[in-house]
Amino acid sequence: MKASSFGYARPESLAEALELLARHGERAKLLAGGQSLIPSLNLRLSSPALLIDLGNLSELEGIALQGKDLRIGALTRHRAIERSPVVAAHAPLLAQAAPHIAHVAIRNRGTFGGSLAMSDPAAEWPACCLALGASIVVASARGERRVQAERFFKALYATDLAPDEILVAAEIPAAAADSRSVFLELARRRGDYAIVGVAAQARRSKGRLQDVRLAFLGVAAVPLLARRAMAALEGGPCDAAAIAAAERALGDELEPMADLYHSAATKLHLARVLAGRALAALAA
Ligand SMILES: Cc1cc2nc3c(=O)[nH]c(=O)nc-3n(C[C@H](O)[C@H](O)[C@H](O)COP(=O)(O)OP(=O)(O)OC[C@H]3O[C@@H](n4cnc5c(N)ncnc54)[C@H](O)[C@@H]3O)c2cc1C
Repeated sequence: MKASSFGYARPESLAEALELLARHGERAKLLAGGQSLIPSLNLRLSSPALLIDLGNLSELEGIALQGKDLRIGALTRHRAIERSPVVAAHAPLLAQAAPHIAHVAIRNRGTFGGSLAMSDPAAEWPACCLALGASIVVASARGERRVQAERFFKALYATDLAPDEILVAAEIPAAAADSRSVFLELARRRGDYAIVGVAAQARRSKGRLQDVRLAFLGVAAVPLLARRAMAALEGGPCDAAAIAAAERALGDELEPMADLYHSAATKLHLARVLAGRALAALAA
């Protein structure tokens, strides 16, 4: 099938893109890496009147340490994040997660902002942003605002973005010297979307974990922070009993959606297995 016909604009600046978006609103669609949008146009799941190609907006691309935050521009490709020494040093969770995203050819084109804006429940970046306490920076002709990742992912493929807003960056608190992170996922084949995954971060000192963050992907319509499991570990020794308590707590807070291949019970079991492995690695 071919896409329906649409107009095409390739603005030269963010201001121009925002002006176009303000004028065309929901009739327009933003094009970033095109790895999700182009198939959906070709399948006619989406039929915008105008495609606004963000490809020339180099101001939205790049990775920089700004004060205590790592700022990643929306148009930064997955592959650039995977290979960045700045990311490896200041947000190692992202460096661990990147190789799980699709295949290299897709990571060469797909963008960080495109993935956050898509909000696929099985995508890696949204869960990482939750685990890392990121702020999502969005802009419109009305100005710029920041939204905590915990409030950004609203529902299945739905975010806090208004029709006239562009996601411009995410700001991620740089990892502290004593912080540890682990990203794990299970997929049917390497490169497939996750069945279940976990993005975990904590500060470790004297055998105890603090500021524990466990974010799951693939278990709900949106990425989920497992607050009860996090609380079960906070400040205490991260031993086998504490890990078992955290795994049990997941049963009270995760209500996984079954998919074509996995029942809800299987997904809960897999989430517990991954949590156990991630916590043992954080504590080691
Ligand atoms: C075979 C295959 C396997 C994949 N596997 C994975 C996987 O395992 N994990 C994973 O996370 N992803 C996976 N993806 C998706 C891939 O990561 C996409 O790159 C990503 O979801 C969207 O990024 P994009 O830059 O391609 O966005 P596009 O396809 O260009 O856009 C996607 C959507 O986001 C909107 N959008 C894009 N940029 C912005 C912005 N800056 N502000 C506001 N809205 C914006 C667009 O309007 C569109 O609605 C896979 C894709 C394919 C084709």
